[in-house]
Amino acid sequence: MIYLKTDEEIELLRENNLLVSKTLAEVGRHIRPGVTTRELDTLAETFIRDHGAVPAFLGYQGFPASLCISVNEQVVHGIPSSKCVLKEGDIVSVDCGTFMKGFVGDSAYTFAVGEVGAEARQLMEVTKEALYKGTAQAKAGNRVGDVSAAVQEYAESFGYGVVRELEGHGLGRKMHEDPGVPNYGARGRGPLLREGMVICIEPMINMGTKAVVFERDGWTVRTKDRKPSAHYEFAVAVRRNGPDVLTDFSIIENALKN
Ligand code: MG
Ligand code: MG
Repeated sequence: MIYLKTDEEIELLRENNLLVSKTLAEVGRHIRPGVTTRELDTLAETFIRDHGAVPAFLGYQGFPASLCISVNEQVVHGIPSSKCVLKEGDIVSVDCGTFMKGFVGDSAYTFAVGEVGAEARQLMEVTKEALYKGTAQAKAGNRVGDVSAAVQEYAESFGYGVVRELEGHGLGRKMHEDPGVPNYGARGRGPLLREGMVICIEPMINMGTKAVVFERDGWTVRTKDRKPSAHYEFAVAVRRNGPDVLTDFSIIENALKN
């Protein structure tokens, strides 16, 4: 069941995703060698609650934290831990969700810890660009496959692996609504995109193989070959004239400059 949102509902989703963007900026400001992923999770939870929202991931299907923090070969759903100490050269994917005024925010960003190598830097840049390519297709009259194919074609043109087991999704009163938004697919296929749909587009791109392993902690997904992976996520409202991006990466990137 795909729920179309009114303009008012889209503004509530924007409020949530702006708060997610601000939370990710706050997390980004604290990412440095020596910090633990548990510390980042604690400050995100405090920040979200201080802004009148609730962390949407905490307790979701039993997830034990407010952020998913996935380091290097971890793709998504990493559990913050006081034993996980970030070090120079790591890349760290942070996925954040909020719940406020009846709606959910859900966005993600991959950060560099200190100076990262050229290969990892390129993986991050290409994954973010793949997100932008997919987002450009999120307009009424297109199909989900147009988004999927744009992400896949761009990422694969660099020889990267596009994760198949996890995908984007509709976003609204619930974090995971229809339709599913895969990061691979064929143009012109899949559900029709209609005015008022809100979807999360979230490429998970691996430097090496697309194959992933589900760890025994019940959550963490990592690359099979243990090469790094990156993850960026936008919440996007589908409009007649094109995509209306509800997430704001400029907040994060401005925070990283200072
Ligand atoms: Mg997410
Ligand atoms: Mg999502």
